[in-house]
Amino acid sequence: MHSYNLIAPAKINLYLEIIGDRPDNFHELAMILQSIDLADRVEIRCSKQTQDIRLHCQHPQVPTDKSNLAYRAAELMATQFPDAHAKYGGVDITITKNIPVAAGLAGGSTNAAAVLVGIDLLWKLGLTQSELQELGAILGSDVPFCIGGGTAIATGRGEQLSPLPSLQDMYIVLAKYRHLEISTAWAYNTYRASYGNSYIRHQDNLVERALAVHSGEMVKAIVRQDITKIAQKLHNDLEKVVLPAYPQVAELREILAKQEGVLGTMMSGSGPTVFAICDCKQRAQQVKLNIRTAIPDEDLELFVAQSLPHGIQIS
Ligand code: ATP
Repeated sequence: MHSYNLIAPAKINLYLEIIGDRPDNFHELAMILQSIDLADRVEIRCSKQTQDIRLHCQHPQVPTDKSNLAYRAAELMATQFPDAHAKYGGVDITITKNIPVAAGLAGGSTNAAAVLVGIDLLWKLGLTQSELQELGAILGSDVPFCIGGGTAIATGRGEQLSPLPSLQDMYIVLAKYRHLEISTAWAYNTYRASYGNSYIRHQDNLVERALAVHSGEMVKAIVRQDITKIAQKLHNDLEKVVLPAYPQVAELREILAKQEGVLGTMMSGSGPTVFAICDCKQRAQQVKLNIRTAIPDEDLELFVAQSLPHGIQIS
């Protein structure tokens, strides 16, 4: 095959706890991540005539140069596998963006994950999922999860994954102001400035705390497929810095939480997307309609999504 069409799903954070600092300056995290069917399309094809990497994307907020994480994923593959790069030539990547940008939904990371999976197929490398995830961790903390997707605990920087049973039939309403972007780096640095003195310092205690998530209430609820309990146990430490700094997001979250049929509400990652969990699709669609009426702002993007049991897939 000379080309592959891949589906690259977004993720939400059902749980995000900041535990402490790491020697590499990242935060030690304990997260529970969930893939959803709000997804980008990534087409990847060999371009035999050249060795170049070219990236196309119509979305005005998405760069097409080396600052695009998907571009960097292709560059990484070319460096790691120079013989295959020489044999198969350059790659053309076309991204069709459906996932809002800088939204806390891992849009860039899932595009990069799709490029790793796509080039592995194009160049017939036969890499295992864990080999692809190791490469993904070089690019960004969310990339390893995006490759396999589904439901998983993520610790360390977010790259150490333990799969959980897939969640069936969980429906989610997502809401984001189109022109509101929050930098992930800003959110974590502001958190460190405000809460750094409560961080766990000792390495053994850090590991112990990260492992505690495995036996926590959220994991128990996921194992039991108890959507109501999952919705009650949603948690995100970054809300403590993002919501006060962005009252528009706090208000949106409050309005979502008050809707009939909403079981729980939370901000995803570093925001500004907020999401609400509903018990069925009809209810989620009704919540979306109600929010549209309650906030008649054209800048507000609303989506209904469903939990997915997988990450990158060939379409
Ligand atoms: P995360 O949840 O992993 O922190 P995010 O969903 O908050 O990520 P992205 O959509 O990945 O954020 O975008 C973050 C920044 O990265 C944007 O400012 C965007 O310009 C840039 N970017 C680079 N590559 C991509 C890509 N392939 N898709 C979207 N944004 C990209």
